[in-house]
Amino acid sequence: MNIQQLLTQLETTHQATPAGIEYLLANEAEQDLLFAAAERVRRNYVGNSVQLRAVIEFSNYCKCRCVYCGINFGNDKLPKFRLTKEQILSAADSAAKAGYKTFVLQSGEDESYTKEYLAEIIAEITQKYGDTAITLSVGERPYSHYEAWFKAGAKRFLLKHEIGNAELYKKLHHGDLLSDRLQAARNLMQIGYQTGSGILIGLPEQTLADIAADILFLQNYNFNMISIGVFISGPGTPLAGHPNGDVGLTKRAMALARLLCPKALIPATSALLSLLPSPEQAMDCGANVLMQKAEPANYENLYALYPRKSDELSIAERRAKVTTMLAALGRTVSETQGNYGEELK
Ligand code: SAH
Repeated sequence: MNIQQLLTQLETTHQATPAGIEYLLANEAEQDLLFAAAERVRRNYVGNSVQLRAVIEFSNYCKCRCVYCGINFGNDKLPKFRLTKEQILSAADSAAKAGYKTFVLQSGEDESYTKEYLAEIIAEITQKYGDTAITLSVGERPYSHYEAWFKAGAKRFLLKHEIGNAELYKKLHHGDLLSDRLQAARNLMQIGYQTGSGILIGLPEQTLADIAADILFLQNYNFNMISIGVFISGPGTPLAGHPNGDVGLTKRAMALARLLCPKALIPATSALLSLLPSPEQAMDCGANVLMQKAEPANYENLYALYPRKSDELSIAERRAKVTTMLAALGRTVSETQGNYGEELK
């Protein structure tokens, strides 16, 4: 089968074999054909609108020791911060006024935000901003916590499994188990969350076969949101000095995720954007979501998953800038909450 036949098959059936996926992941020379196919599927299934999410990164305390992550427990060089309920609500208020319809509450695995306290924050945001959705991204917690937060009003959860090779997962996560992470994702789905997962491209020892298996896993689990990030090496981590993940490979993986999961919400991740000379270059391979930092400016650089400079804009200015960028590509900014499966306008 040549690449055209393979892509036609993908575009019509949304099915591929591990070998077919690996072939396309490796095929840098003809990646423009893959990107074009992903863009056609993106237009047909989720349209031209882009979902903008305001991300409130509310704590960089984390009990985990993920070797790639700048806020890992062992990094004692990074000043720590936690936002209070009032600070989180104030960030949500600025984002709501700027027009955002989704708040993503993200943090390290920080148990000082108890089941009750986070439920209280979620309930207040839900009550104040009726027409907005809350996505949580706070890592693994017991079933009862997820359940309480769902009842309080959070209806989406992002819990990436990062790499589905169980042995490598354990090595990269200080002995933590992939099976625990996957059980947490199953719990979220069972409770009724729109659930997101995803992977990091460029982790040490990761092979194309691993990535192909991960993309098929994301399809088989039917995740609503699929985030394909790219590893960026940072100080204060065991992987300091390790080469960053490959941008082209990341984009090919995103395009394949779009072809296999046509209706999914797929972000152009902030990590990918930070490695590209211009944001347009992340919008040609199937993405329909963009995330923008919305915490108070003085904390932005402390939520340092990887090295990244702030653009020093307010959340409203960020929205204006991205709207102009997208308009030039013939894309619009969604006015809706952008729930999975709804008509996305
Ligand atoms: N504690 C939460 C949120 C994790 S941070 C949780 O456990 O789910 C959000 C995402 O940042 C992670 O899922 C990971 O994919 C990404 N990330 C972490 N370190 C990174 C790095 N060095 N380069 C690129 N992305 C990274």
